Amino acid sequence: MLQLYDTLTREKKPFGSLEAKRARIYSCGPTVYRDVHIGNLRTYLLADWLRRVLEAQGYDVYHVKNITDVGHMRQELLERGEDKVVAAALAAGKTPQQIAQQYTESFLRDEAALDIKPAHDFPRATDYIDQMIAMIQRLVDQGLAYVVEGDVYFSVERFPTYGKLSGNTGEALLEGVRVELDPKKRDPRDFALWKSAEPGRIAKWPSPWGDGFPGWHIECSAMSTSLLGPRFDIHTGGVDNIFPHHEDEIAQSEGALGHQVVEYWLHGQHLLVDGLKMAKSTGNDYTLSQLEERGFDPLAFRYLCATVHYRRRLNFTFESLRAASAGLSRLRQAAHQAVASSNNGDGDDSSEWEAAFWGALLDDLHLPRALSAVWGLVRSSVPDVVKARLLRAFDDVLGLDLLAPTSVPDAVQSMVDERRKLRSRAEFAKADELRQRIAEAGFHVRDAGRDTVVTPLVAAPLMGVDAVHSSQEVPSCLDEPDACDFSLILTGRDDLEGLRRCADAVLRHDTGHRIELIVVDNGSSDGTADWLRELAARDERVRAIFSDHNMGTGAARNCGLRSARGRYVLLLDTSVEPTGDLLSPLAEALENGTTGIVGAFGVNSDDLRDFHDAAGPEVDAVEGYLMAFRRERVREVGMMDEKFRFYRHLDLDYSLAVRERGYRNRIVPNLPLRRHPHSDWERTPPQERDRLSKRNYYRFLKKHGHRTDLLLANSESP
Ligand code: AMP
Ligand code: ZN
Repeated sequence: MLQLYDTLTREKKPFGSLEAKRARIYSCGPTVYRDVHIGNLRTYLLADWLRRVLEAQGYDVYHVKNITDVGHMRQELLERGEDKVVAAALAAGKTPQQIAQQYTESFLRDEAALDIKPAHDFPRATDYIDQMIAMIQRLVDQGLAYVVEGDVYFSVERFPTYGKLSGNTGEALLEGVRVELDPKKRDPRDFALWKSAEPGRIAKWPSPWGDGFPGWHIECSAMSTSLLGPRFDIHTGGVDNIFPHHEDEIAQSEGALGHQVVEYWLHGQHLLVDGLKMAKSTGNDYTLSQLEERGFDPLAFRYLCATVHYRRRLNFTFESLRAASAGLSRLRQAAHQAVASSNNGDGDDSSEWEAAFWGALLDDLHLPRALSAVWGLVRSSVPDVVKARLLRAFDDVLGLDLLAPTSVPDAVQSMVDERRKLRSRAEFAKADELRQRIAEAGFHVRDAGRDTVVTPLVAAPLMGVDAVHSSQEVPSCLDEPDACDFSLILTGRDDLEGLRRCADAVLRHDTGHRIELIVVDNGSSDGTADWLRELAARDERVRAIFSDHNMGTGAARNCGLRSARGRYVLLLDTSVEPTGDLLSPLAEALENGTTGIVGAFGVNSDDLRDFHDAAGPEVDAVEGYLMAFRRERVREVGMMDEKFRFYRHLDLDYSLAVRERGYRNRIVPNLPLRRHPHSDWERTPPQERDRLSKRNYYRFLKKHGHRTDLLLANSESP
C-alpha cells in the first residue's frame, strides 16, 4: 500500500482516496512572469511521479496545476501593491497578458521536454476572479475577514488553528511576518485577500469592495475547491510554499467551508546549485533550455532528480548532471539490448526486482531505491524477455524514455548496415573503422546476438571536457615545491577585453623573474575560451583553467591558487594594467618573514564596519585589485572563502584571515600600473550592487566583526 509523508501530521500515512479508485491532486504551478528554473521543475517532477505511481496502482487521477498570471506578490511587495506579472510587463513594454502567455508557453514546453504528463486542467488565476470574490465574501460574512477602505484582510485571530501546517505560531509567527507595517491591518499576522487598485493600474477587477485585485493565496483556495470539490486528496508544492502560501490557503479554504479540505500535503525539498540557493543575482538559476544548450538531454535532468528522494535537498552540479547523463545512456543501452534479444528465450517469472521496485515507490515515492532496483534487474541473469517486459512497465512510472525508438539518420543507418555485412565476412578491422565513424556521427552500436542495437551517444557538454565545475576539481599543487618565482593569477567572466589587456601587459614586461600566468575563465560566453586556448598554446608561461559556469570570484581565485607553483602568488584584477616591472618591488617587500599580503591599495578601519583608504606602509587590509603573498602562506591561512561570489569584501576577508595568523599587511608605494573601470562593478546594476555588497558585508562582519583587536587603530605599538 502506498505510504505518503504528510506535512500536516508530520508522519507517513497509508494513502486512501476519498472516492474509491479516484485520486484528485492539486499542484501549485508557476507564476508566469519569467522562465521556470530547474528548481521549480524538480517540484513539478515530484507531482508527476506521484501521479504516475497512483495511475500504476489503478487510480483514475485528476490533476490540476494552476497558472498564476496575476496577484503573486511577496508579502512585503503586496503592501505596495506590486505584482510580479505586472512588473515584468512594465519592464518589457508588454501587456501583462502577453507576458503571461509567453511564459505559460515556455513552461508547458519545459514540462513536455521532461515528459511530465500535462495536468488535466491548468486553471489561470484571472479566469477565477469571480470564485475568489465569492470566497472572500463568505469569509467576510462569517467574520473571518474584514474590510478597510477597499482592502480585505483575513483575521488570523479568528482562525485558532492558524499555524498548524508550518508550526508558525505565537512569537515565531510574528517573527515570520515582520515586514513593513501596513497601518490598515488590525493585527500584523493578518494577510490580504483583496487589495484596492491604485490609480492607473491595468490589471484590476470590480468587486463588492471596489476595483481591485486578489492576494496571491486566495487563488489556490478558490481554484482547488472549484475544480476538485470541497474535499480532495493531495496538494503538492515546494517547501517554500508551506509558509505563508499553504498556511493561508488552509485558513481561507477551511474558514470558508467549515471543514478540512486537503487530505495529504506533499512538499518537495529544494534544489540547490553548487550548494547555494538559486537566485537570479547569483547567476545560478538555470533553466532547462540552458542545460539543453550545453548539450544535455532534458531527461538526464529527470534521471538526476530520481537519484535523490524528494524530501531531501538536491545539490545540482554540472558534474552530477554529467554522471546522470551517462547513467541514463547506459540504462537506455541496456534496455535496448534486452528488447533486441528478447525474442531469444521466454519466461514470465516476476522477479525479486519487481518487488523491490514497487516496494521503493510505495514507500513515500522512494525513486533512488527504485532506480537501484532497475539497475539490479539490468545486471541480473533474469531472461531478456522478462527484463524487457519489466523495463517497459518501470519506465511507465519513471518516464525516462528508456525504449523510445531511436531515430537513426539514414546516413548512419547505412553505415550500420555496411558494418553488419563486413562483420558477417569477418572483416573486423574495417567494421571497427565504421564503428568509429558511427560514433563520430553521435551513435553507439552494440552487437546483441544477431541484432545490432544503435543508440545515440549522450552529447558531451559543449564547454569541452577540460572544463571544471568546482575549484576542488583543479589538482592542488599546494604541497609541491616552487617551480618558478611568481604565479600571476587572473580571473575573468565575459571580460575578454580586460583579460587580454592585463595578460598582454604582464607577458610583455620582462622583469627578470621566472613567471607563470594562470588565467581562469570563469564561465564566459564571449569568446574568452578561444582566445585563452590560443594564448596558452602560443606562450608556454600561460596556463588556462576553464569553468563550465560562473563559480563566483572566491572559487575562481581558488582555482588559480590551487594550481600555482610559484614561490610568490600575485592576484591581479583585470582593471589593473601593469605598465612596468611590478614583480621586483613586490618580491622585495615579501622578503620580510612577518609579511602577509602586500599590494598597491590598502584600507584601514576603526571598527571593522567602515573602511577608509590608507597609504600604509602597514594597513589592515590590502585591496583585491592587486594582492601578493608567499605561496606557503596559503598552506597556513587556507583558501579563499568561496561563499564570496561577488568580489566585494573577499579581499578584506582574506586580509583579516592573514592578520589572524599574526602576519602584517603592507602597501608597496608607486607600483607601475594604470587603473581601468572594474568590470564586475560596471556591469552590475546599482540596486544589485547594493544587495550583493550588503550580503558580503554581513558575511564578513559575522566572521571577523568581533576581531577589532587586530586593527592597527587598536595596536599597542603603532
Ligand atoms: P513559484 O513560481 O516561485 O511560485 O514556484 C513554483 C513552484 O516551484 C513552487 O511549488 C515552489 O515551491 C517551487 N520552487 C521554487 N524554488 C524551488 C527550488 N529551488 N527547488 C525546488 N522547488 C522550488
Ligand atoms: Zn498555490
